[in-house]
Amino acid sequence: MHVTADDLTSTLRAAGLRITAPRRAVCEIVAAHHDDHLTAATVLEHARRDLDVRIDRATVYRTLEALEDVGILRHAHLGHGPAVYHLTEEHRHHHVVCERCGATTAIPVGEFDAFVETIAARTGFVLDVEHFAISGLCPSCAHR
Ligand SMILES: [Zn+2]
Ligand SMILES: [Zn+2]
Ligand SMILES: [Zn+2]
Repeated sequence: MHVTADDLTSTLRAAGLRITAPRRAVCEIVAAHHDDHLTAATVLEHARRDLDVRIDRATVYRTLEALEDVGILRHAHLGHGPAVYHLTEEHRHHHVVCERCGATTAIPVGEFDAFVETIAARTGFVLDVEHFAISGLCPSCAHR
């Protein structure tokens, strides 16, 4: 089951937000492109190119933030670049990122369970391993 733009707008509406045309556009883009590691900049670009809607950057950020606040969206940092956004319900994964060429690979949720449990047992810290990618070298950079 894929999350639709209507799901996103009704979640925002249920949280008390008014659905303006720019907010609606952000929801449509997030629903259509959630597999693409969307950034705020690519949301703006899609709005202009696909929907012919001009949204100011602040509205994009505020709408993404509102979607995060209601728990339907979350961001991750893949390296030094801007945050990327994922729908919480779909394709949950961790990331590894190549520090040389920037290539990223998704790692299934659960791969870090043993590590998370060990750290919790030793330190009491509850890790959020989805928030930041783990950096390293991709296969082609590692063997160069
Ligand atoms: Zn991802
Ligand atoms: Zn963050
Ligand atoms: Zn690489």
